[in-house]
Amino acid sequence: MRTGIFGGTFNPVHCGHLHIAQVFTREMNLDQVLWIPTYQPPHKESRELAGAEHRLEMCRLACKEDPRYKVCDLEIRRGGKSYTADTLRELSRLYPENRWVLLMGEDMFLTLLHWYHPEEILALAEICAVPRSQDDSGLLQRMQQQAEAIAAMGGTVRICPAEYWPVSSTEIREKLRQGKTVSGLIPPSVEQYITQKGLYGKEEIG
Ligand code: ATP
Repeated sequence: MRTGIFGGTFNPVHCGHLHIAQVFTREMNLDQVLWIPTYQPPHKESRELAGAEHRLEMCRLACKEDPRYKVCDLEIRRGGKSYTADTLRELSRLYPENRWVLLMGEDMFLTLLHWYHPEEILALAEICAVPRSQDDSGLLQRMQQQAEAIAAMGGTVRICPAEYWPVSSTEIREKLRQGKTVSGLIPPSVEQYITQKGLYGKEEIG
């Protein structure tokens, strides 16, 4: 089975995530995609981080869109800082017959070689990345250089052409806080969940 691993804080999951998951699944010919919400992101500030059980549930709601999407709570059950090398090692031990493709956006891709044990990550999974911003400052060139650096370490990389979707969880949290609409930016079921649980400062009216 060719299995994509799509890790993130998903705080909250949004349509940009769903869009690139579709691109990855198609371009990389994936049989399934494991969406893995991090417990504690090593590379990001945890300010405004919704509870792990909420982020997990929102991923479950979003993943109803495609039967090939599965939500995996491995990092949440493990607790502590969520390192991809640990996750890949554990998944490879549990499912040795699987071929792993690690999926990510440009921001994560450009920092990959500074992650915990990058050489182990590259030995266990193929890397697939998509741009997430416009190529107006040599972005594709920087991604290409990074791909070459990874290949020089023995890794396999593919940069997928994907339509640029300018949406982030940060923008969604901000809009929710300001009472602005997020319609079209997150799946309606996720928006409903956020309202019900009063996440990100959004509360049910009436
Ligand atoms: P935040 O704004 O809180 O930092 P985020 O929008 O970057 O969050 P994450 O859950 O951290 O969301 O992202 C998970 C993965 O999805 C990362 O690899 C990230 O690069 C990628 N990603 C998120 N949004 C997009 C997008 N609009 N286009 C391409 N890739 C994206």
